[in-house]
Amino acid sequence: MGFFDFLNRRNEKRRSEMLQNGICPDCAGRGFYEYGFEFFHTVDCPQCGGTGELSPD
Ligand SMILES: [Zn+2]
Repeated sequence: MGFFDFLNRRNEKRRSEMLQNGICPDCAGRGFYEYGFEFFHTVDCPQCGGTGELSPD
């Protein structure tokens, strides 16, 4: 198992834990992403529609 496999496994575990708690794993429950360095922009998370909540499948 390589280092990236380790990271992927850990990430998948974290995502499934968030989903079980009804938290959108793509934005970590914040409902938006931040990006940019000199200027900060935010964009609504398309996965949860900006609510930060996501029901498990
Ligand atoms: Zn989201």
